[in-house]
Amino acid sequence: MAEVKTWDVIIIGGGIIGLSLSIALRKRGATVLVVERGEPGREASHAAGGMLVESSAETPAPLQPLASASARMYPEFAHELNTESGMNVDLRDQGTILFWSKEQFERLQVRGAEFRSALLSVADLEEREPALKYGRFDDPEELESLESFRQEFEGNPSVEDVRNFCKSVFRPAIYVSEHSVDPRALTAAATKTAKARGVDFSSGDPVTAVNLSDGQATGVSTTKTSFLSSKVVNCAGCWSGQIPPHQLPTRPVKGQMLCLVMQPRHLLKHVVRTPDVYLIPRSDGRLLVGATVEEAGFDKRTDIATIQRLHRAALELVPGLKDAKILEDWAGLRPGTPDALPILGTTRIPGYFVATGHFRDGILLAPITAQVMAQVISGETPSDDLSAFSPQRFS
Ligand SMILES: Cc1cc2nc3c(=O)[nH]c(=O)nc-3n(C[C@H](O)[C@H](O)[C@H](O)COP(=O)(O)OP(=O)(O)OC[C@H]3O[C@@H](n4cnc5c(N)ncnc54)[C@H](O)[C@@H]3O)c2cc1C
Repeated sequence: MAEVKTWDVIIIGGGIIGLSLSIALRKRGATVLVVERGEPGREASHAAGGMLVESSAETPAPLQPLASASARMYPEFAHELNTESGMNVDLRDQGTILFWSKEQFERLQVRGAEFRSALLSVADLEEREPALKYGRFDDPEELESLESFRQEFEGNPSVEDVRNFCKSVFRPAIYVSEHSVDPRALTAAATKTAKARGVDFSSGDPVTAVNLSDGQATGVSTTKTSFLSSKVVNCAGCWSGQIPPHQLPTRPVKGQMLCLVMQPRHLLKHVVRTPDVYLIPRSDGRLLVGATVEEAGFDKRTDIATIQRLHRAALELVPGLKDAKILEDWAGLRPGTPDALPILGTTRIPGYFVATGHFRDGILLAPITAQVMAQVISGETPSDDLSAFSPQRFS
């Protein structure tokens, strides 16, 4: 009789989280099966913008150590995927220009001197990104107040001083040193790398349950068959909560985006974020414009009015885009959780693990998630404290 095949680890879901984890586990010598209900890397990880945001102003405090660690890992992570897949994930290091609302900026000022020193002068902005309209501060009064800001805050301002000043400032900008990556290329490269390293894939058939025997994980059932393993990891993104027996509180948070073709190809070099819109240039001349954050259930349709609003916001910011062609628009579903933090670690069921709920930061957090989850699954103490992300915090 033929022996029934088993794997050391089964991963449910072939998004960037499941793919990165499969590679990390294979490197440790584990046999791994990724069970994906569609094609790997076609859901949130395909829809993402690819900003690797780790600034303390935009990252929830409990997530900061993981976000910073993952950002530090990215150059090596990207290099490895490029080398092993022969593809190019387009890791860019030109950095980001952030335009804040007055309220956000006020908060930043109060948080620390590092932001004050990062404030861009009008000349800086014009030199870095001449195509940006908001960078020009055409109104002389705005320009004056921005310049006087720099002088005023050389010393040690009180919170009240900062508040008063911010009320008079239009849209201050700061420069943040951060990377961006092309998530579609990233997931394609991760899939190719995982396959080359010997990870097995089952595509086109959804997992319907994690199977248990004597209260322990024994594998998964799909609509057509079942697979055996004493270790199962749920990496099913916003669908994680649909897989019994565990009721994980994940939910879809919709994001709509569009893609323009820049003319000339390097019209914009930096990622640009404002309170209304963000722009992410790719090296091949594409420019991503995003994104909405909507509670719309499992609905991935785009609507014309929203796409037009994003398009208008991009044109206001960069008038030189007026003749840029729209290449495509799309929507994706971020894996949200009740406290906006990921769910990482062991469940109450021996052999059943979870790595999901990465919400707006799953592309950024892929390398660190793969590292710490591979450690947990291998029975080691993780390099980072995961207590804030425990699957058991919701029970
Ligand atoms: C518009 C938008 C912009 C974003 N921008 C950024 C950004 O700039 N930076 C950033 O870091 N993050 C960003 N994100 C967030 C990021 O995309 C996600 O956090 C990340 O992709 C989550 O990866 P994942 O592998 O957990 O989920 P997914 O990529 O959704 O993968 C989950 C996989 O599980 C599969 N699956 C589901 N149910 C089953 C089942 N029952 N059986 C088998 N397989 C199943 C799905 O088919 C899917 O392939 C953005 C997201 C969106 C939507």
